[in-house]
Amino acid sequence: MGYDCVVCAKQVPDTKRITGEAMTEEGTVNRAALPAIFNPEDLNALEQALSIRDAHGGTVTLITMGLPAASEILREGLYRGVDRAILITDQRAAASDTLATSYILSCAIRKLSYDIVLCGRQAIDGDTAQVGPQLAEKLSLPVITYMEELISLEGKTIRVRRNIGNGYQVVEADLPVLLTVTEAANTPRPPMVKKIMKYKKARSKSEVEQEVKNLLQGDFENYAAELEAQQVEQICSELKEKGLLIEQWNLDDIDADLNWCGRDGSPTKVHRIESVVLTGSEYKEIPPTEEGINQLVAELIEDHTIG
Ligand SMILES: Cc1cc2nc3c(=O)[nH]c(=O)nc-3n(C[C@H](O)[C@H](O)[C@H](O)COP(=O)(O)OP(=O)(O)OC[C@H]3O[C@@H](n4cnc5c(N)ncnc54)[C@H](O)[C@@H]3O)c2cc1C
Repeated sequence: MGYDCVVCAKQVPDTKRITGEAMTEEGTVNRAALPAIFNPEDLNALEQALSIRDAHGGTVTLITMGLPAASEILREGLYRGVDRAILITDQRAAASDTLATSYILSCAIRKLSYDIVLCGRQAIDGDTAQVGPQLAEKLSLPVITYMEELISLEGKTIRVRRNIGNGYQVVEADLPVLLTVTEAANTPRPPMVKKIMKYKKARSKSEVEQEVKNLLQGDFENYAAELEAQQVEQICSELKEKGLLIEQWNLDDIDADLNWCGRDGSPTKVHRIESVVLTGSEYKEIPPTEEGINQLVAELIEDHTIG
């Protein structure tokens, strides 16, 4: 039997490349100065979904919520072989915290057919690891977090090995289920050259709008809006005909209640942001002998680290 998989992926700034310019004077991330990438563990979630499709058949749908530029990771998904890619973008979703983000994603997923919803364990910028479990709660799905291996998938039952820090658990659940996938689960497949050739020109409507706006900038002040709209419609219908129009949904398309989206739907309040600079201080090497360990324990008791 085939399985319908929905993968949630986030476009994130590449935090490995944080340099002086990548931080603003207030100590926040200057997103414009950092390359934007496919959140690494979301690539593991995508790989998991693709290998389920390879083994059992079914479909893989990739969704992301973000700015129009997030279409880039949807193209990357198409290069790797997803069947469908959907951008959820809407200015009314700006300033969404994890609760609002998971609500919006849940509204979108309800519009799709799914047996397995896959998220990365964690996004490398927000770093909360909250969205997957919150999404499962909103969809009333069982959730298996920290997945490091798919042990079996038979009929409506899935068995997964999950990391618990100092060991592992094997967990069984009935479908539909939500998994949050770690980097240990697999090695993401590379993009396929044929698919790159096919989808490199795929665009979402908001990208087309931006491109047309840039082209017409400064021209025909008075009737630019009308001309713009016509051009956008024409380019979008040509892309659609060729199967190159990336689907785009706004909050109305997914019947989202606006009270639960954006700033209104976000109870998290950021009071202060601090830059924490970690500096090295003195260290002591403990010899791996019984005497060394005894000495370490005695010192830890003495300074009340352990009692
Ligand atoms: C008060 C407040 C205001 C904010 N305002 C903004 C803002 O204006 N613009 C902005 O970009 N961010 C904003 N954020 C950040 C935003 O809330 C988080 O980036 C988002 O909720 C995801 O949380 P996370 O990064 O901790 O993801 P995690 O919970 O660590 O992500 C886990 C997994 O969930 C999935 N996932 C997470 N986010 C998405 C997504 N967007 N699309 C698809 N799948 C996803 C991925 O599979 C990911 O691996 C704001 C946060 C707060 C607290």
